[in-house]
Amino acid sequence: MFELKGRAALVTGGNGGIGLGMAQGLAAAGATLAIAGRDEKKNAAAAKELGGRAISIKVDLRDENACRAAVDQAAQKLGRLDILVNNAGTNIRKAPQDYTLEEWRLVLDTNLTSAFIASQAAYPHMKRAGGGKIINIGSMMSIFGVSFSPAYGPSKGGLVQLTKSLATAWAKDNIQVNAVLPGWIDTELTRGARRQVPELHDNVLRRTPAGRWGTMEDMAGIAVFLASAASNFVTGTAIPVDGGYSVLG
Ligand code: NDP
Repeated sequence: MFELKGRAALVTGGNGGIGLGMAQGLAAAGATLAIAGRDEKKNAAAAKELGGRAISIKVDLRDENACRAAVDQAAQKLGRLDILVNNAGTNIRKAPQDYTLEEWRLVLDTNLTSAFIASQAAYPHMKRAGGGKIINIGSMMSIFGVSFSPAYGPSKGGLVQLTKSLATAWAKDNIQVNAVLPGWIDTELTRGARRQVPELHDNVLRRTPAGRWGTMEDMAGIAVFLASAASNFVTGTAIPVDGGYSVLG
């Protein structure tokens, strides 16, 4: 039920953090992989870590044509494309009144627009193959408001709605589209946040029922579930993987 042998996956931002954790899960379940990111060194190191199962693609996903080409390249090099994980993301933390339009666009283009474009580009490959799986990486900020992330929150809220739109449109093509909402996971992104907001570390420990930060390994299982036949009747959902963060009253 969780077997991914013969399946091919593209993980955007798969060269580190949550994306790499998910890629490791998919590889362990038998999938071949393409990971996409801008940093060639990180791409190469991650591909090596994934053994012979991964190729890497250097791409800035904010560039529409490059984003489409990366999806086609993954399908061509892997021979098919069954799974797309829209994971690449970024944040600029500052007060809304200080945000420039350029900063807003950078966050929205990276987190939300690239997921739309990559999904559009993946659709013909999946339709031709008779089905597919798209996994969008949201956030606790898909649910909660945060004063210092006025573009990140909307981008992650938008991803949940994009998930529902694609899920309903493409269900007839046997393409399941779901979102994962990670809690606070120890990655480069949140290391940056902790440097900027020193009290964040302890606040997360206090607020998370599991009493710890998540790890990239915590993200592997949900990726395998949503990429495999085990989730064939699950679509349009947004599943928290958060140690209980989102249900604590
Ligand atoms: P990282 O900073 O480790 O990963 C971000 C990834 O996105 C990197 O692989 C980066 O690669 C890639 N990326 C960023 N911008 C672009 C771009 N323009 N084009 C191509 N690739 C890009 O952070 P995380 O692992 O924490 O984040 C992964 C996802 O999980 C993000 O969407 C984030 O919002 C989300 N998330 C993270 C949480 C956490 O607690 N860590 C919580 C909730 C959600 P490169 O730099 O090489 O381009």
